[in-house]
Parts: sequence; structure tokens; C-alpha cells
Amino acid sequence: MIEPTIVWFRDDLRVDDNPALVAAAERGEPVVALFVLDEESEGIRPLGGAARWWLHGSLHSLSQDLASFDITLILRRGAAQRVVPTVAAEISAGAVLWNRRYGRPERDIDATIKTQLRGSGVTCGSFAASLLYEPWEVQTTTGTPYSVFTPFWRACRELPHPRGPLPPPSSALSGFDGAVTSELLRSWELRPTSPDWATGLADTWTIGEEAALERCEEFIDDHLAEYTTGRDVPSQNSTSGLSPHLRWGEISPHRVWHAVHSAEAPAQARETFLSELGWREFAWHTLYYFPSLATRNLRPQFDHFPWPPCDPAHLSAWQRGNTGYGLVDAGMRELWQTGTMHNRVRMVTASFLVKNLLIDWRQGERWFWDTLVDADAASNPFNWQWVAGSGADAAPYFRIFNPERQQSRFDPRHRYIARWAPEYIDDDPPEPIVQIAPSRRAALRAFENVPRKQHAP
Ligand SMILES: Cc1cc2nc3c(=O)[nH]c(=O)nc-3n(C[C@H](O)[C@H](O)[C@H](O)COP(=O)(O)OP(=O)(O)OC[C@H]3O[C@@H](n4cnc5c(N)ncnc54)[C@H](O)[C@@H]3O)c2cc1C
Repeated sequence: MIEPTIVWFRDDLRVDDNPALVAAAERGEPVVALFVLDEESEGIRPLGGAARWWLHGSLHSLSQDLASFDITLILRRGAAQRVVPTVAAEISAGAVLWNRRYGRPERDIDATIKTQLRGSGVTCGSFAASLLYEPWEVQTTTGTPYSVFTPFWRACRELPHPRGPLPPPSSALSGFDGAVTSELLRSWELRPTSPDWATGLADTWTIGEEAALERCEEFIDDHLAEYTTGRDVPSQNSTSGLSPHLRWGEISPHRVWHAVHSAEAPAQARETFLSELGWREFAWHTLYYFPSLATRNLRPQFDHFPWPPCDPAHLSAWQRGNTGYGLVDAGMRELWQTGTMHNRVRMVTASFLVKNLLIDWRQGERWFWDTLVDADAASNPFNWQWVAGSGADAAPYFRIFNPERQQSRFDPRHRYIARWAPEYIDDDPPEPIVQIAPSRRAALRAFENVPRKQHAP
């Protein structure tokens, strides 16, 4: 009797280096690929607009890649706890395999499904694919999670190298030819219709596994050698641009790690890049141990921060890139048009919102969540809290990015500004909505309410 294997795809929309798919091939039974759009389960954060747009393209691309193995990607919408066992029962699946997720609600869902399926005699298997190091593998000598990046990354680097990428399974994979109903991708309406705000995103990105692998290769050939200095210059295209591909798992961090580690580039450039992957690991490590990262201050002292009522005009000026500060406005417009923003400018725009406009970091985090194509459940809140000063190993609160000085330092020839906010290179630039020095002083006064030491519980 045929007992098909379901490979349940989630944040791993790729064929290359996909341990669940490799294990399915080893099982030797026909394979059904499944993706569940779960917008119902409690605790699952609804995707932002730009991420939904990306997901459409990524699922389209994955279904084409799987078709070359005669595997059909089955699309279902609904609570995963209901849908996955239903599909398993419909096709009398012998096994359901997946690559792990690390957010608390997702882990709870997966654990429940595993118990349910095992209870009905279905084999379940989960694999490590999205992170280089499982969060429980990297702990301090006292068995607690790391809260500071440098020792965290040192500990990671002292472990054996992450495993090498697994090649795509070859002829051992075969599709299931029984009937399984699938919803139509376009019926999910993941892409905007009217107005179609995503044309700039479409001009900027090529979605999918093939594009991700090409981008990785091009980055290594053309930019890795100068990464250490080039990564801070927003007008240069010197960073990898891999973040949305990593977010959706179109490329694995193992594939990227090994390609960079063995590349012919100066050791310092390679290490700097690998440590950026390390920040991604650290963000996920933090989310694993602190699941409410997007809503609660990691450092509880920050609960005492006296946020004034949010000024909607200021928030809107920031979102639209009309603050009167060239670098901030250029970044916010780059974000709106392309679904991304250079890392240096992300730090400057975030600092401006929190420390010059005194708007709670959660407002900014939500805007980025909605507009970034790489919006990531760990990296986004982690970095917002880092900038705000409330997070793990955060920049100290008094370190406030001055947008004018940042501009002279990182965009001295105004190339980035000229591209996204050209009115700032005119003689008559827009008026600032707040002055830097007094708003900075107000932020520092408010910060005095934050206790220096954590109160004993
Ligand atoms: C306020 C703020 C919000 C952010 N939100 C996100 C987010 O939602 N998703 C996201 O992937 N990154 C986020 N970042 C981190 C960083 O800005 C992006 O990862 C980076 O700009 C992506 O460009 P790249 O792929 O060319 O990076 P590269 O410089 O080529 O770096 C390689 C990879 O390392 C990882 N990485 C680099 N920097 C960081 C970092 N600081 N934290 C975590 N991972 C990092 C990314 O996966 C990136 O693709 C945020 C940063 C800030 C300051």
C-alpha cells in the first residue's frame, strides 16, 4: 500500500538544502508538498503587505521548481492544526515532515500536530534548516541563553562549523498521483490589486530560489571583498540583498555560510559578513527565549519610559518620508518604493522615530513589519529594540544617531539622497518637523525615568 509523505513547507520555500525534502526522498514513498496559509491560529502574527506580496511570488516559484520533480504544491488556507491532519487523512499519508520553526506559537502548533498525527499512526519528523545553530545548542556555561552578541557569536564560532548544505534530492523523489485538492494561489489575494502599490517592489526584486542562489554568487564575486567598508555606504549596492530570500528560506543560511566561508576574499571581509549572519542567529536566539519580543521591552526597566501620546502628524511624516531630514526621508521612501532599506539607514530612521519624535518603538516596528519584504519575526523587533535601547545588548539609550552627521559620514556626496529625496540637494530644502538638539535633550530627560538597574522581582 502506498503511504505518501507530506513535506509541509513553511519558511523554507526551496528545494536546495532542504532536510525535510531529503528525508522524504529517503523514505521512498510518493511526495505531496503542502503549504498552509494560516491566518487563524492564535498567536500567529499576520503577515505584512510586502511580505504577502513576496510570499505569492515565492510560492509560485516553488511550485515550478517542485514540478520538475513531478511534485505538486498543494495550497490550503486555515488553522494548521486542522488542515495538516486533514490533508494527511485525505491521502492516507504515512509521514509528515517539516523543517523547524522557532517562534513560540509556531512551536506550540507544531508540537500539537505532531502529537495528533503520531496518535493516528503517522510518522512525524522535524529538521534543522533555518538557523545555523539550534537555540538550545548555544548556551552560557551556566546553561542560560546569551544576552550579549559578542560572547554569543564567539560561542557559535567555537562550535564545529555548521553542517554543509545538502544537495537537492535527485531521482529518488517522485510525486503522488492521487487526487488532492488545492486552492488557487491567486484566490489568496496576496498581491495588491487597486491601488497596486507593489510595482516598485516588482522592479527591484526577482523572487525565488534560483534568483537567491544567483544573488549569493554575484555578491561573493563582486562585493564580498569590500564588504567591511562597503556595507555602510547606502548609495552602494555592496551588501548581499539576501535578507528576503533568507526570510522565506529560498536560500539556506548553511548554503550562504559555506559559500562565504570558502570564498576567495580577505578573511576580515568574510568574518564580517559571517557575523552579520550571526546577528540573524542572535535575533532568533533571543526570540526563542523571549517570545514576546515584538510587543514587550526585553529590558523591563523600559516599561517605565514615559512615552508621550503619539503625535499622528509626526508618525505620518516619518512613514511618508516628510520629516525635513534628507537621510531619514530618503530611507523611508526607499522602503515604500522597494520594500527594503539599507541597514545603516534603518538604524538612522528608527533612532529618529524613537529618540527625536519620542514615538514608541512598537509603532515603527509595525510600519517596518508591513512594508519590508524581509520583515522577519525575530530580526525586526530585535533590531527595533536594539535601536530603542530596550533590547538585548542594545545600543545605550544616550547613543542617538544624528541624521545630519550620519548623512555627512555615510552619504557625503549625496548620492543616496539624490536618488530618493532629491529636493534635499536644492538650495531650499524642506523644513524639519523637529529640531535635533532640543528633541534629543527631551529624549534624554525622559530616559532619566528609566531605572538604571532592574528592580528585584
Ligand atoms: C530597525 C531595523 C529593522 C530591521 N528589520 C529587519 C527585518 O525585518 N528582517 C531582516 O532580515 N533584517 C532586518 N534588519 C537588519 C538589517 O537591516 C537587514 O538584515 C539588512 O539590511 C538586509 O540587507 P542585506 O541582505 O543586503 O544584508 P547583508 O549586509 O548582506 O547581511 C547578510 C545577512 O545577514 C543578516 N543580517 C544583517 N544585519 C542584520 C541585523 N542587524 N540583524 C539581523 N540579521 C542581520 C540578514 O539575514 C542579511 O541578509 C533590521 C535592522 C534595523 C536597524
